[in-house]
Amino acid sequence: MRKFVYLDHAATTPARPEVVEAMLPYFTEKFWNPSSVYSPAAENKQAIDQCRDLIGKTLGTEGKNIYFTAGGSESDNWALKAAAEAYETKGKHIITSKIEHHAILHTCDYLESRGFEITYIDVDENGILKLDQLEEAIRPDTILISIMFANNEIGTIQPVKEIGEIARKHGVIFHTDAVQAYGQIPINVDEYGIDMLSASGHKLNGPKGIGFLYIRKGLKLRSFIHGGAQERKRRAGTENVSGIIGLGKAVEIAFDTMEERTSKEREVRDYAIDRILAEIPYCRLNGDRRKRLPNNINISFQFIEGESLLIMLDMAGICASSGSACTSGSLDPSHVLLAIGLPHEIAHGSLRMTLGEETTKEDMDYVIDKLKEIVDKLRSMSPLYEDFVKQSR
Ligand SMILES: *Cc1c(COP(=O)(O)O)cnc(C)c1O
Repeated sequence: MRKFVYLDHAATTPARPEVVEAMLPYFTEKFWNPSSVYSPAAENKQAIDQCRDLIGKTLGTEGKNIYFTAGGSESDNWALKAAAEAYETKGKHIITSKIEHHAILHTCDYLESRGFEITYIDVDENGILKLDQLEEAIRPDTILISIMFANNEIGTIQPVKEIGEIARKHGVIFHTDAVQAYGQIPINVDEYGIDMLSASGHKLNGPKGIGFLYIRKGLKLRSFIHGGAQERKRRAGTENVSGIIGLGKAVEIAFDTMEERTSKEREVRDYAIDRILAEIPYCRLNGDRRKRLPNNINISFQFIEGESLLIMLDMAGICASSGSACTSGSLDPSHVLLAIGLPHEIAHGSLRMTLGEETTKEDMDYVIDKLKEIVDKLRSMSPLYEDFVKQSR
């Protein structure tokens, strides 16, 4: 029987019904502009600030340090560009890693074109940042360290506390892209020494086009959008009221259910990884086995083209993603898989499956049975595999 299994929750997640329900009145009867003076509008302002306080609490900080944005990419852009501009009189050196999301890497390219110097720290074969290299890279003119909390392709969770300690010791601002981690892993910004943190609604069963940037109190950053006085004058524009309400609801549920939800995901994840590694020859797990997002599976299959694999999975009703940068229309393998040392041909045969709370072991049994058939079929058509089999006889 053909099923439909969605295994691309790192790309986006469905909004929860409670989220949509909470949002709806703000399109119609509660359409007021929160900046207006009459009382119904003031209620909208209050509702927004309640979401701000709720989010602040999840990070161990005050609501007023939370600034709503249009999502993870905007938060990343804001953090990097504003810190660069605010501190360029101190220096023009920024440190990041080789496995960041493109919202960070392409912003770094831009800053490089504006005269900033960027150092890209290596990760080890499991995708964990090399802390000694990070500390060695810090110079008197280093103004910012930006390292992601958890990786979107291979799921590795970085030693964020240690990174925060290093940054603090050297008086450098620390930003983290926590888009994949927020709502999955408990985070306390003070404990972790985080000065700025990016998150996004649609990665935690909230709406798309809404996110936030946490900015430590007292950090001097320029405004991202100039105009009205919204978001303490740092990000002007009439608030995305329904989006903020939806994000607030999604965050509330994500934190209420975190322990139960993620332990269930971990169980299904580990079950699937064990089955794949045991039943499909010539494949490997990418990323750290334990320091890993609860919902991430990333496997490389030798003698396989990731793209062909995805197409055949799609025909079986399975939505997954490859490790390669296929979205940009380029055939270059993923920068993350290359950074952990995979050769091009292995990186090309990679598959990312990211689970949701609704994903069951039965779903994964269906997926793995299909995967076995497809891998067999693709290998039977591969001249490389044929040569390999002949040689090993
Ligand atoms: C999805 C994602 C982003 C971008 O977030 P958007 O809200 O889609 O702009 C940034 N960083 C990471 C790690 C992501 O997974």
